[in-house]
Amino acid sequence: MKATGALVKKYQKENFDKLGKSCFICGKKSSLVVHHLYYLKSDKKYSQFANGVHGKVLYQRHLARCIAKNPTRFELLCQGCHYAVEIHLRWRPKKLDNLMIVVGKTRMAKKAGIAH
Ligand SMILES: [Zn+2]
Repeated sequence: MKATGALVKKYQKENFDKLGKSCFICGKKSSLVVHHLYYLKSDKKYSQFANGVHGKVLYQRHLARCIAKNPTRFELLCQGCHYAVEIHLRWRPKKLDNLMIVVGKTRMAKKAGIAH
């Protein structure tokens, strides 16, 4: 079978459908990516596949098998939310905790009507 962009989209859609069809964080239904919550030694990363359509088809098929075995290892995210997750994973835990404190304090100020 000849690898085509349509085949990539077909496998990709099947994978997205298995994971809820929309971004877990914001609900967006476009520009979606499959986020690995954790990798197994048997997992292959996207970068391990050849460039081009054929590599993308093989990657999506590999991903489909991984999702079928254990869908709880994955979360469907839009590219924007995926970027945010990856950025925050690089932060040390204390820095992330402090970010949440500042966000919480800011929201409380808005709720209290102090902020404009
Ligand atoms: Zn999102």
